[in-house]
Amino acid sequence: MKIGIIGAGAAGLATAFDLSSNGHKVVVYESAPFIGGQASTIPVGGGPLERGYHHLFTNDSAIIGLMADLGIGDKLKWYPSRVGTYTSGKVYKTTTPLDLLRLSALPFKDRIKLGLFALRVKRIKDWRSLEDQTADYWLREHLGGMAYEKMWAPLLKGKFGEYYDQIGMPWFWSKIQTRFASRQGIRGREVLGYPDGSFDTVFDRLKSVIESQDGEIHLSTPVVRVEVVDGVAKALIVQPEGGDEARNEFDCVLSTVPSFSFPDLVDLPDDYLSRLTGVHYLAAVVVILEMSRPLTNIYWMNIADSDVPFLGLIEQTNMLPKEWYGGSNVLYIANYLDREDELFKMSRDELVDLYLPHLTKFNPEFNRSWIRAIHYNAVSAAQPIIGTNYSKVIPDHRTPVQRLYLANTTQIYPEDRGTNYSIRMGRELAAMIQDDEKQAWRNWR
Ligand SMILES: Cc1cc2nc3c(=O)[nH]c(=O)nc-3n(C[C@H](O)[C@H](O)[C@H](O)COP(=O)(O)OP(=O)(O)OC[C@H]3O[C@@H](n4cnc5c(N)ncnc54)[C@H](O)[C@@H]3O)c2cc1C
Repeated sequence: MKIGIIGAGAAGLATAFDLSSNGHKVVVYESAPFIGGQASTIPVGGGPLERGYHHLFTNDSAIIGLMADLGIGDKLKWYPSRVGTYTSGKVYKTTTPLDLLRLSALPFKDRIKLGLFALRVKRIKDWRSLEDQTADYWLREHLGGMAYEKMWAPLLKGKFGEYYDQIGMPWFWSKIQTRFASRQGIRGREVLGYPDGSFDTVFDRLKSVIESQDGEIHLSTPVVRVEVVDGVAKALIVQPEGGDEARNEFDCVLSTVPSFSFPDLVDLPDDYLSRLTGVHYLAAVVVILEMSRPLTNIYWMNIADSDVPFLGLIEQTNMLPKEWYGGSNVLYIANYLDREDELFKMSRDELVDLYLPHLTKFNPEFNRSWIRAIHYNAVSAAQPIIGTNYSKVIPDHRTPVQRLYLANTTQIYPEDRGTNYSIRMGRELAAMIQDDEKQAWRNWR
């Protein structure tokens, strides 16, 4: 088979790896001049750093398995992480269950409630029983009080903005499962994974193996159209940067582009189209500071305070060695924003001017002179908003156009999106495509 793949992120490359390993010809087209999609890197202090902070959890078995298959399992290392929460004008350590008991921002009974509540959610095995309720409703009903209002509500509002009360409860359930899985030992200390040499290690290895198996990866080559003949995907029309438009025929096509841009590539019937347009995405806007001093000693800082104009602070060098970044302390200032939000429209410098005065809340000594360099990244399809009863409307991987598949982050459910799940999905798609071919494409819906 000859398969055309649109997108060289985690999903597209995982599919290309499995298909090329089984002797199929894969041709991957990527609009950006780099591979890795949302998990790609930029040079920071001479070392590669993800455009948006990235780490793995211990139950991320798909990416752990893929790294083993690629012969780079030994490159994944585990690090203790330190988690904090900023609330009521103060930073609280919230790494372990014991920290929660000491969280003086809450009355003692609410601290106990908070801990027991997380255990209760963790014990729920069947997320389907939660599907018809929003996280906001469920948390109000089953936790409520100060514990919800001070801890979870600001986090939900910070992460999802005006959509906070639409998020289905399975999202919250899956977050709790993941975080518990990454806790170790009786003290419940969290460990997080990170590949030596950044996530580039995984993507670079995928690329070299795919190419060694006669696969092709074309960068700066957006697909502009899927050609469909008699209801069957036949060819991809590509527009290489600085080159002429070209047409290439395939036995089948996999698209990994976001749901909002897929309809630009192909005409789709209303029912399927409405499933795609029914999912709204938030963009991630990330400012990265290279600094001469650390801001805090926390790796992951949740901001549960609506007066602070960002959602989280991730201090990379509080988990990983600063020598990897030329000796600088690396701080991400993160926000998830609607693309209509005024903060999304701000320039890098406007955002920096807005954010910096708030950093003294985390360290009163913070001074602008600590900053050695500033980077800015915006990812438009960063976080799909997944509402209630989503299993009933999730778009099928087999699209209404025969031999045209779709695999993007809106099809990851009930888990929240992540490299692990895009890889799992990409490998599932490789199996599905091969199975469909064996069935002479008869099992198309
Ligand atoms: C700020 C941030 C933090 C994150 N943190 C983590 C984390 O800690 N751990 C974790 O595991 N995950 C994390 N994620 C999520 C993770 O990065 C993504 O879920 C995953 O990388 C998505 O992979 P994908 O292949 O499904 O999609 P993408 O990475 O979006 O890949 C799709 C690719 O298609 C390309 N494309 C689009 N249109 C076209 C076209 N017309 N022609 C050709 N190519 C096209 C795009 O350029 C892109 O490369 C984070 C994401 C963000 C934004």
